[in-house]
Amino acid sequence: MRSVFLEEIDAESYANYLAQSHATVIIPAGATEQHGPHMPLGVDAMLSRAIAGAVATRLGALVAPTLAYGYKSQPRSGGGNHRIGTTSLSGATVTGQVEDISRSFMGQGFNNVVILNGHFENYQFIYEGLEIAVGRARESGSEARAMLLSYWDFVDEGTLERVFPDGFLGWDIEHGGVLETSLMLLLHPEKVDMSRALSHPPAQLKPYDIFPEDPARTPDSGCLSSPVGASAERGQLLLDAVVNGVARAIEAEYSLPVAALEVK
Ligand code: ZN
Ligand code: MN
Repeated sequence: MRSVFLEEIDAESYANYLAQSHATVIIPAGATEQHGPHMPLGVDAMLSRAIAGAVATRLGALVAPTLAYGYKSQPRSGGGNHRIGTTSLSGATVTGQVEDISRSFMGQGFNNVVILNGHFENYQFIYEGLEIAVGRARESGSEARAMLLSYWDFVDEGTLERVFPDGFLGWDIEHGGVLETSLMLLLHPEKVDMSRALSHPPAQLKPYDIFPEDPARTPDSGCLSSPVGASAERGQLLLDAVVNGVARAIEAEYSLPVAALEVK
């Protein structure tokens, strides 16, 4: 039985994998969040899972089931939590979920834990959960370490220039835009309907938040920038940069022997 996805292998294969000295588990983190009329609610979860799968194949790591809900969508990075379809967790729940799952993996013997984040708003709450989990594991004698990364941070300047020839406007307004849509067109093309993609100028976001949220402050489409111009070819440029960058970072931090590990 061979799969990098934990939910697809049996417990004995899992135990054999875990017995290897460089066993590494990657936990993808996403959200359930509207992504405009042209893409499904699970984009952040689907992309983090697919990227984790590609990285795990490269490194011989195992991918844990995806955290499919995320911290509340914010107007300046995800269109806002008021939008229909967006179904979120509180910060304490994200932190608690990360802490519990990480501690369980560490308790079973994983010393190398990675969380690969695909939803902007999650980051600090995952950070808190990992910090607590590693601290507790080490108090009880474990050598466990953890890494936290968001995949878009691995898109280099050269790739950005090729994907955004008219200029890059910032990751915060990439919600539902060219980055995510291009990756989806490559990885899950049947789940994207470009005939419903709306062309509009990038959101003009004021540099502060207000409560309650004012829906008029973000574009009606639910996208913070237009997905027009997205393509599977651009998705491939992005995926290559991300998978190479993430794999190299994990390999370096955990001194992994390249492709020495496998799920038997
Ligand atoms: Zn997203
Ligand atoms: Mn998101």
